[in-house]
Amino acid sequence: MAEVRAVYVMLADRPLQRDCQGRAACCHFRQTGKTPQLTRGEALVLAQGVRAAGRTKVAERPDGACPLLAPDQRCMAYNARPFGCRTHFCAAAGGPAARRDVLDLIRRLETVDESLGGDGPKPLSQALYEAMQPKSNPPRTKTKPRN
Ligand code: SF4
Repeated sequence: MAEVRAVYVMLADRPLQRDCQGRAACCHFRQTGKTPQLTRGEALVLAQGVRAAGRTKVAERPDGACPLLAPDQRCMAYNARPFGCRTHFCAAAGGPAARRDVLDLIRRLETVDESLGGDGPKPLSQALYEAMQPKSNPPRTKTKPRN
């Protein structure tokens, strides 16, 4: 997950014209007709953000918006939001990032996906649901027994 967060930092450091103002228009998937697709690592980071926000479950919304969109129209896990939410198509935020400008970062996320046994990007709700399952947590490094 550190690698995924490193990718997000590298993206933020790129001189791309982006200015997300948190209007949440892009979080209404049914209205936009577009849903972020998450690799396994992104989903695990997002699940971590959801848990940090005090949630243990996520549920589909009847209006087709992202399940992480809070009633105040803010993302409940904004700092852990996936790559697609950082490079999305929102016109107010600068439109979609050009693929050529972020392709190396996409490749890094794909490499993480493979290393975690993922099978490619999945729609946000599905990827998040799977990542929220207890068995989805990456194995912890065993600590040596004390003498
Ligand atoms: S994860 Fe957050 S920023 Fe991304 S679509 Fe959902 S509510 Fe919006």
